[in-house]
Amino acid sequence: MKVLLICGGQSSEHIISRMSASNIRKHIKDSYEVKMAGITKEGIWYQINDQIKDYAEDCWLDESQLITNVFEYLKSFDVVFPCLHGLYGEDGTIQGLLEMADRPYTGCRVADSALAMDKVLAKKVFTLANIPTTPSLFAYKRYDGKVVIIRDDQTQTEDIVSEVKETLGLPVFIKASRSGSSVGCYKVTKEEDILPRLKEASYYDSKILIEKAIQATELEVGVLGNDDLLVSRVGQIMPHGEFYTFESKYEDKQSSTCIPAGITDEQAEYIRENAKKAFHAIDGHGLARCDFFLDNVTGDIYLNEINTMPGFTDISMYPMLLKDAGVDTSDLIDRLLDLAKQR
Ligand code: ADP
Ligand code: MG
Ligand code: MG
Repeated sequence: MKVLLICGGQSSEHIISRMSASNIRKHIKDSYEVKMAGITKEGIWYQINDQIKDYAEDCWLDESQLITNVFEYLKSFDVVFPCLHGLYGEDGTIQGLLEMADRPYTGCRVADSALAMDKVLAKKVFTLANIPTTPSLFAYKRYDGKVVIIRDDQTQTEDIVSEVKETLGLPVFIKASRSGSSVGCYKVTKEEDILPRLKEASYYDSKILIEKAIQATELEVGVLGNDDLLVSRVGQIMPHGEFYTFESKYEDKQSSTCIPAGITDEQAEYIRENAKKAFHAIDGHGLARCDFFLDNVTGDIYLNEINTMPGFTDISMYPMLLKDAGVDTSDLIDRLLDLAKQR
């Protein structure tokens, strides 16, 4: 079977994707004929020479390896593994390209990817599915540059600060809707920081989610499957620093993880049930990592988000959760490729 593994991409998670792909390349079984392609931050596609073992910046930018006709190139593979995070990778766009090229691919399809990537839309769907999420408001930067809050009844207000204070109170999290790796995500404790942070988030996306900040234990569950789901045990993140920022995710050696999480069996069962519900609610395919908050003050549990192409490095939570469930990374890749072919 000819497999194409794609990495890099135009999102802020470009380098994480390359680390994930490098791990997948290392663990994929020899029975597959694997080729790799890299997408630059500018969106240019290159074949990656298999001799390249470390994916250091720009090492694959060899002009002779340029892929000029992406569509034709894709057609020469039996299955594609788009190991891309964030914008243009996890948001339904590359999935759309693969649908049009009529190639089977791993993971979520167009609509489920797009939905999970959009924090505002995902929240609406989770609410419809009766999955608890943190109280929130939805802000939108209009084409004229004005930011408004659009309420559930579709009325709007420009008085953002009052609305936030009255509806949510402080502190809040302000997050670009279609982002990941905590890029464009801010904790705001002071009233005067609301508007500046909203402005910063709006550089990343015109849609912004404002959420009540929870004093939370962060819990994650791995899901694998199309119809019959394998749901892992619950893992716990111990971020170093105030919250799980980009730096604490990828650079801070003091952030750590623990499987299983230090929670009760009832809490774990509740979280696993809701992970399954959430995966079905977005009509997910293949894999996802469902992230939850346990409110340390009230004991309430909320779904935070679903990531449809979770980090896949050897220290990433998703492959570790699956390993804990008895599926080592080589078998996990096998299963994902099988699930891709099922459709
Ligand atoms: P991303 O898709 O970028 O990972 P998240 O919604 O997961 O975005 O937010 C990133 C991190 O910010 C979370 O892992 C958590 O540490 C913190 N965070 C986000 N929202 C909240 C919230 N409502 N309450 C407490 N912490 C939050
Ligand atoms: Mg995310
Ligand atoms: Mg997250």
